[in-house]
Amino acid sequence: MADRPPLTLRDLHAIPVTDLRQVGAKVGDRLAMMGITSVLDLVTHYPRRYHDRRNLQQIAALEIGEEATVSGTVKQVSGRRTRQGRSLVEIEIFDETSYLKCTFFNQPWREKQLSVGTEAAFFGKVEHYRNRRQMTNPVVDVIAEPGRPGADTGVLVPIYPASGKADVQTWQIRKAVGEALERSRARTLADPLDETIRDALGLVDRTTALHDVHRPPTMEAVRAARNRLTFDEFLRMQVALVARKRTYERERRGVEHVVDGPLVDAFHAALPFPLTDGQARAIAEIARDLAAPAPMHRLLQGEVGSGKTVVALTGLLMAVQGGHQGALMAPTEVLAEQHFLTVRSLIGDLAVAEPGSLLGERPVRVELLTNRTPAAERRRLAGGLADGTVDLLVGTHALIYEGVEFADLGLAVIDEQHRFGVEQRDLLRSKRGGDDRTPDVLVMTATPIPRTAAMLIYGDLDRSELRELPKGRASIATEVVGPSALERTAVYERVRAEVAAGHQAYVVCPLVEGSAKLEAKAATEEFERLVAEDLAGLRLGLLHGQLPGPEKEAAMTAFRDGRVDVLVSTTVIEVGVDVPNATVMVIEDADRFGLLQLHQLRGRIGRGAHDSVCFLLADPRTPDGRARMEAMHTTSDGFALAEKDLEIRGSGEVFGGRQSGWTDLKLGRLPRDEPIVIDARAVAEALLDGDPELGAHPQLREEVEDLLGDSVEFLFKV
Ligand code: ADP
Ligand code: MG
Repeated sequence: MADRPPLTLRDLHAIPVTDLRQVGAKVGDRLAMMGITSVLDLVTHYPRRYHDRRNLQQIAALEIGEEATVSGTVKQVSGRRTRQGRSLVEIEIFDETSYLKCTFFNQPWREKQLSVGTEAAFFGKVEHYRNRRQMTNPVVDVIAEPGRPGADTGVLVPIYPASGKADVQTWQIRKAVGEALERSRARTLADPLDETIRDALGLVDRTTALHDVHRPPTMEAVRAARNRLTFDEFLRMQVALVARKRTYERERRGVEHVVDGPLVDAFHAALPFPLTDGQARAIAEIARDLAAPAPMHRLLQGEVGSGKTVVALTGLLMAVQGGHQGALMAPTEVLAEQHFLTVRSLIGDLAVAEPGSLLGERPVRVELLTNRTPAAERRRLAGGLADGTVDLLVGTHALIYEGVEFADLGLAVIDEQHRFGVEQRDLLRSKRGGDDRTPDVLVMTATPIPRTAAMLIYGDLDRSELRELPKGRASIATEVVGPSALERTAVYERVRAEVAAGHQAYVVCPLVEGSAKLEAKAATEEFERLVAEDLAGLRLGLLHGQLPGPEKEAAMTAFRDGRVDVLVSTTVIEVGVDVPNATVMVIEDADRFGLLQLHQLRGRIGRGAHDSVCFLLADPRTPDGRARMEAMHTTSDGFALAEKDLEIRGSGEVFGGRQSGWTDLKLGRLPRDEPIVIDARAVAEALLDGDPELGAHPQLREEVEDLLGDSVEFLFKV
């Protein structure tokens, strides 16, 4: 028994939570509803907070109007419905000094949760009602089950998330966790970090961390425990990302491009503007990668309008000038078509060398491939791709379908990467054709991501940034407008004035979370209302995600061509519409949007030479909502907004849409934990420097493999 090896996370994962004596079938079912099926799930279901039993007031001493925490035993419970049909639960608690009444509206489950004899803490405002002191809807922390006052806890009582409504009592979780800790303590937990690293970073060992997070002797111990557990979360991710990056760097089988040449020179000479410093820097970084034997894996970050297209196209032309092909993949048809038009016009009549032909050169050939490309056209393209006469192919996911094969793909550019997964990146790379070298990859994103967050999301890529917009850009003012009719009228007057001056406008309709149908309906109603009332007499267009493709395209084209003055739209315009003549944007219910989404939307105006204005119609009722509106009004710097956004929301949603492994963060939050991310990155790099396949760190390697699941094969390949 004593010789059994320490428990690993994989071991804990293999034990069903129902193996615990404290978890019977019923509690087991309820835990499963909370996503807790293994002992690992259970012990990583961390307390939300800790109730300090010493930090209490006596009921007898409570003052009317003060906010207080009291703790007592439930003496009486009754539940009923009010005459309005609302549920009402009333309880009496006693703390040895006096009684207090607590009243809960619309929380019928309290009746069961707070059965007679339960010990619980109550936080709320002390009110005066019918000659008695009471609390209405106080915050409740259940401390002990009926009949066993404080039996399983110390001074600091862990309070677990979502245990009330899911019908699992917090003390049931506490007991189950207690048993798990007890049983694992005998064997201790395997620690992926050796003592030297732990000491250098001041981290406690894993056994202590897991124990103290659930059974803390002091709040100081909680901090140390959380610090260690958070570090582990970030370390697993960083090891995965750094390992992937190292794998890339070890590949010597890339294409060594000739980056200086007549095609790129001619392209730059023909541009109607000088490159910004940021563009020149990014191009130099890309050129260095392209010329090197290892394939490029680089992220180009720059907000809407920062000039990424010119940078990407320069890279693509570097490939073309050496006789290779280039691909540009975008996430939507609209965006792909837009890119296609832009690339065509930027390329103009540039020519590429064609030895042996009459003139010794031919025009650069750019083609478009989307789901809408007809079969005959597709066959023609396939021919051109295979014989190398198509130089650049712009398109959507269609690029990675079966049957698309290049003769010699030299560089793949992927726009708006956050909508594509790593798998798609790899698929596009696999389209190279010709020999078995690996094409270079440039990923572009317009989402400004703060540095540390980028370290998490794109930690396997090198980064180039375009931080400033090209000079001479029109200014965009942002006004937050209240909900009154008067204020709205003023906004629509402004829209009319801009249209009268020959400009165009967007009206963006409210976001309906999770329902494209309802969103389309709202947009249609708003469109009809504007046609009939506020914007009567103007030429209005309607665009939403439920329209059939050709109608969408028609609406977009009409707006682009100036046949429509005002485009009423859902957020489908977020990506890809570039109409320099648009100078006003009205965003309805703006406080329902996230900061970055508002910023992306706003980037659709001010793209030409005319000063523009964005009206945020909003009546923010929450502090967050107000903070977002204020941030939009005062700053137009996407990176600053991204930092702000992270501050307001925390990091959870940053990972929305990534593979499940990446949402593994249970404790880690940005920006709060930035220093931990930076430490974890450094440790990951140091470990992999000395031990590229983690042969000497099997425990860590196993945890990283479990984090990544099936997508792990690419790792640790030397
Ligand atoms: P992004 O792709 O980053 O959103 P684009 O590449 O579409 O930005 O550029 C936005 C606009 O700015 C385009 O009309 C482009 O022609 C123009 N532009 C790009 N680079 C410069 C520059 N250095 N100076 C002036 N205008 C530029
Ligand atoms: Mg662009």
